[in-house]
Amino acid sequence: MSVESASDAGAQRVAMDKLVSLCARRGFLFQSSEIYGGINGFWDYGPLGAELKQKLRQRWWQFTVRGRADVEGIDSAIVAHPRTWEASGHVESFTDPMVDCKTCKRRFRADQIDGEPCPEAPKKRAILDCDLTESRNFNLMLTTTVGAQEGAGQTAYLRPETCQPIFNDFKRVREAARQKLPFGIAQVGKAFRNEITPRNFTFRSREFEQAELEFFCHPSQREEWFDYWLGERMRFHRELGFQESSLRTRPHGPDELAHYCARAMDIEFLFPFGWQEIEGIHDRGDWDLSRHSEYSGKDLSVTDEETREKFMPMCIESSVGVDRTALALLVDAYHEETLEGGDERVVMRFHPGLAPVTVALLPLSKKLKPEVEGLEAELRQHFSLQYDQAGNIGRRYRRQDEIGTPWCVTWDFETADDRKVTVRHRDSMQQDRVPIEGVRRYLTDALEAAS
Ligand code: ATP
Repeated sequence: MSVESASDAGAQRVAMDKLVSLCARRGFLFQSSEIYGGINGFWDYGPLGAELKQKLRQRWWQFTVRGRADVEGIDSAIVAHPRTWEASGHVESFTDPMVDCKTCKRRFRADQIDGEPCPEAPKKRAILDCDLTESRNFNLMLTTTVGAQEGAGQTAYLRPETCQPIFNDFKRVREAARQKLPFGIAQVGKAFRNEITPRNFTFRSREFEQAELEFFCHPSQREEWFDYWLGERMRFHRELGFQESSLRTRPHGPDELAHYCARAMDIEFLFPFGWQEIEGIHDRGDWDLSRHSEYSGKDLSVTDEETREKFMPMCIESSVGVDRTALALLVDAYHEETLEGGDERVVMRFHPGLAPVTVALLPLSKKLKPEVEGLEAELRQHFSLQYDQAGNIGRRYRRQDEIGTPWCVTWDFETADDRKVTVRHRDSMQQDRVPIEGVRRYLTDALEAAS
């Protein structure tokens, strides 16, 4: 079997090539610009992947912003004033060490080649034995030009993280929303990094999505809020349905900490290629607000209304990758099973609230379409629904299992007489006979029970 059981976290997980192929075949996600041979580090989400990501984003937004009185959501521009990235330190030091092979001209991350085989002759030598240049720093920011005058435009950057605009907007948002410390500002959106070696499917991409929360507090409360957010963020991941054995936290050692960071903890997921970060929780101190105050000349400190103490707020950050979490969900969901009678099935065991298709409506015959239309229209208002009338019913169930649809509703030849349909459950494959008027309620209750 190529999947592990829940009690067997160290064992082999789904082979990446199987997952990559399922994702392309079923339209979860695939290389961007495929018809031109693809572009390295960029990915397109198809109909199912777009739904999965949408549901993931919505859950994050509900958990982080809408469900709380002390967090405000924003949606900032991708391009910020270039001084932003000088203040944040990105222009100077958002770099990875890079080496070139003088023979094959390939580029490598200097800190990721230890023990790696040469891609040109993997059986013969290691990359470290190739004719490499000295390591030099490569800035990961993608640049663009802003302004209509050709050649004279201003160089700008596609944001390498979504949090800096939050610091730019700190004062405006605090005043507009009449928030007092402690409070947070959050946003979800695209970020861009010109990664030297994009790899492991979407895990390391050049364009990706981050969901970030910057939570501002008094200096005396920073440790307390760090611990609080670490607990909350682990709760978020558990509620996505990840197996407990697939998640862990890992504190950063002193040598890994960014110079402005007092404390950092990664939340890691067990991918087929090992434990890897999906989220970072960071105590950024007052670095960002202080630097933006200095570079913009606008004082971003706050004054406590009661004590009149003036101070620069401290910031606790939660930064999660939407694409990395979606990849973790795909890995975690993938199961191969042998059924009674020897049939094999691939089933994506997504949390029902995240499954791209919540309900499939399957009339036993094409001729039943006119009868089924009313139920289809009703269910489409409330659930993501797929209508499938092609092929034998067993094959249709397999197709739905493979994309992780938690419930299939089958309209058969008896439905006209008893006014009942069959609801089939993805995981147990149990079937219930449910009156047509009760189907919507039945599915709503099942979805709520699973959340
Ligand atoms: P890594 O060490 O893996 O490059 P990082 O420590 O640079 O990650 P952060 O800057 O803390 O990552 O970004 C926060 C989150 O954004 C990460 O936990 C990850 O989920 C996501 N992320 C960062 N870089 C990428 C990327 N190139 N592709 C996809 N997601 C990314």
